[in-house]
Amino acid sequence: MSMDFTLKTYKELLLCLKKLSFSFATFNEFTNNTSGKSIYLRHDVDRLPNNALVLAKLEYSLDIKSTYYFRILNHVFQPEIIKEIKSLGHEIGYHYEDYSLAKGDIKNAVKSFEKNLSNLRDITEINTLCMHGSPLNKWDNRKIWDTIDYHAYGLTLEPYYDINYNEFFYITDTGRKWNNVNINIRDKVKTKFKIKIKSTRHIIKLLKRGEIPNKIIINTHPHRWFEPGLMWFWEVLFQNIKNVIKRGINNVRH
Ligand SMILES: [Zn+2]
Repeated sequence: MSMDFTLKTYKELLLCLKKLSFSFATFNEFTNNTSGKSIYLRHDVDRLPNNALVLAKLEYSLDIKSTYYFRILNHVFQPEIIKEIKSLGHEIGYHYEDYSLAKGDIKNAVKSFEKNLSNLRDITEINTLCMHGSPLNKWDNRKIWDTIDYHAYGLTLEPYYDINYNEFFYITDTGRKWNNVNINIRDKVKTKFKIKIKSTRHIIKLLKRGEIPNKIIINTHPHRWFEPGLMWFWEVLFQNIKNVIKRGINNVRH
């Protein structure tokens, strides 16, 4: 069991990107056609919103801005935390899952989407949104876009639709391993890049060698990142159990 996904390794990664002169932006500012070195940090806040606040403060201390996608569930939707992250210069987006919450009932899903978006907007400005993968249930939250269009709600970007992943190298910590193709069920993107990432330190090594493209999107789940200690250990254990379940689902689906 290697000591990855700690705040220390995350900070090392950020410092490396800064040293290499990458420019950090939020998804509200996203464009596919940038020429310089650019990096977008996407954080999916699935649980433990306090961890998101810790990452947000760390980034702020390094003068870095990123985007935090919040689920609407009670244990995640914490207005005070959301406001504080926003006040640090980060973007807040909606990590939607209305279709799966409505168990595939499209009418209720649309109602739920409108209500939840409006609740979030009561707290802060929302311009972009991103699907929650709901890996353990059968509903694909993107199904809602067969019926409504997020642009009509003043939302400008959804990473699964508006980003060209042949331009941007995409890395995700889904399943607590970087770009683990066996574990991801829905958070997959179509891309020409085939770079195998073994660990956070490995990303840093490849960055220093210039072996990673100049345009990058890194997706992290803040609940996976801890100081080494008891919580770190529990998270590893919990994720390993979840991966076994997801692998089972993947085998059934494929
Ligand atoms: Zn999620």
